[in-house]
Amino acid sequence: MLTIDELATFCKRRGFVYPSCEIYGGMSGFFDYGPLGVELKNSIKQQWWKSHVQQRSDIVGIDGSIITHPKVWEASGHVANFTDIMAKCGKCGNSSRADHLVEDKAKIPTAGMNTSQLQELMAKHKIKCPRCGSDVLKIAQPFNLMFKTTVGPSSGKEAEAYLRPETAQLIFTDFKLAQENARLKLPFGIAQIGKAFRNEIAPRDFLFRCREFEQMEIEYFVHPNKIGKCPYVEEFSSYEMNVLTSEMQKKGGDEHKKTKVKEMLDKKLILPWHAYWLAFEHNWLASLGAKTENLRIRQHVQEEKSHYATDTWDLEYNFPFGWKELEGIANRSDYDLQQHMKASGKDLSCFDPETNTKVVPHVVAEPSLGVDRTFLVFLFDAYEYDSKRENIVLHLNPKLAPIKAAVFPLLSNKEELVADAKKVYDELRKEFSCFYDENGSIGRRYSRMDEAGTPYCITVDFDSLSKHDATIRDRDSTKQARVKIKELAEILHKLLSGKMEFGSLA
Ligand code: ATP
Repeated sequence: MLTIDELATFCKRRGFVYPSCEIYGGMSGFFDYGPLGVELKNSIKQQWWKSHVQQRSDIVGIDGSIITHPKVWEASGHVANFTDIMAKCGKCGNSSRADHLVEDKAKIPTAGMNTSQLQELMAKHKIKCPRCGSDVLKIAQPFNLMFKTTVGPSSGKEAEAYLRPETAQLIFTDFKLAQENARLKLPFGIAQIGKAFRNEIAPRDFLFRCREFEQMEIEYFVHPNKIGKCPYVEEFSSYEMNVLTSEMQKKGGDEHKKTKVKEMLDKKLILPWHAYWLAFEHNWLASLGAKTENLRIRQHVQEEKSHYATDTWDLEYNFPFGWKELEGIANRSDYDLQQHMKASGKDLSCFDPETNTKVVPHVVAEPSLGVDRTFLVFLFDAYEYDSKRENIVLHLNPKLAPIKAAVFPLLSNKEELVADAKKVYDELRKEFSCFYDENGSIGRRYSRMDEAGTPYCITVDFDSLSKHDATIRDRDSTKQARVKIKELAEILHKLLSGKMEFGSLA
């Protein structure tokens, strides 16, 4: 299996992701997306926005500010609770996350453990500093992960603000305005894609745990008397996922079981809205190329739940370093709206025309998906070393592929071929992200595009000059077909959107 370090090396070599500011030595936990990476990342966000906002009548979007009022984070509980427990080495000064040290070395799940439990386990398992190997590790005070900054010329307490550690809170603070402006009626959702910042004690595993990352989040609001009924869950009744409940974990199990949504509901393992959103998210990831055998949903055990959550399920992915959270989906009840009403003194309730009363809606599900972790998932599941081609092939879904089509002249020293190929390229790039390449043999050019995940390559050859057609080659099957140049754009549209199979061209 491909390791995370091997993927990071590939990403740098092919221009997907670079360590940020590498010429100055880089900064741990910060990354830059290169020419291919920015296209893939943008496609992920566009696909998410399309299916979660534009194609739904019950969800609208916002784009909140990154630097936020300190009162927001006091009310939400982040100032008091958004902490991790740090273990500091008395010899070399290296800081690590105490729970990660215990999980890695003692192979014990640490969800919800407090400082003294972690200290005890570190002593019992004689855990040493991962950097210098000394055993003088001391548990420090809980460390708050929020980045602070100052706003304006003053540097006093009154100028302090925070970089948001999640996008969610801006949805709550804008809740009333968005609901009124978009005339939303319960149940409805508000979505947001944007950067979040966490001063992680020890960033690791490439993009998996960084200090600056992006989230795609929805707060889904439901009338408090209607939280038990979801009108949409039926459509996923027979949808199957790998499921690991808190009960199974309490019995010491870590083995998930394939379960249908209907069975989960019949056994009252989950509320219908929560099940709906888990299935919706799972299905979205699978529809774009995530392998279902690498996905599972895991319920948080009691001690692991955040201060605001009544129930939380993580959508996990089988990373090379174990099953880890890709997306958290919490039931936040009315916690946040109530907190902000108390702290701001503003009314954040909705009018219920059925009962002529005001109600504070419940967030029955908060799908919170990291863009960067999703980027890793699509790359891991697309990556294949093809021993026949002796080359890496990225089988990315065409909707996500950074370059949709590449155009080559068969030979670079034949002027008329180059001129015609450039004409094709100029036409196609008006509609798709395209790449023109005339360097090296056709085989090498195909290989480079296979590695970049480009689904289709178009070659202009001598026959093209007289017949006005070109060869189109399919990345996954390596099959080729001849198509009329004037029909190329339309054919590509159909192939990329999945409306046409490549086989039907041959
Ligand atoms: P973890 O337990 O892995 O620290 P979390 O439970 O703190 O994650 P959430 O607060 O639920 O994460 O954030 C929602 C999503 O944001 C996560 O599922 C993940 O995809 C993404 N995310 C959170 N922290 C990071 C990070 N440091 N780097 C990259 N993505 C992150």
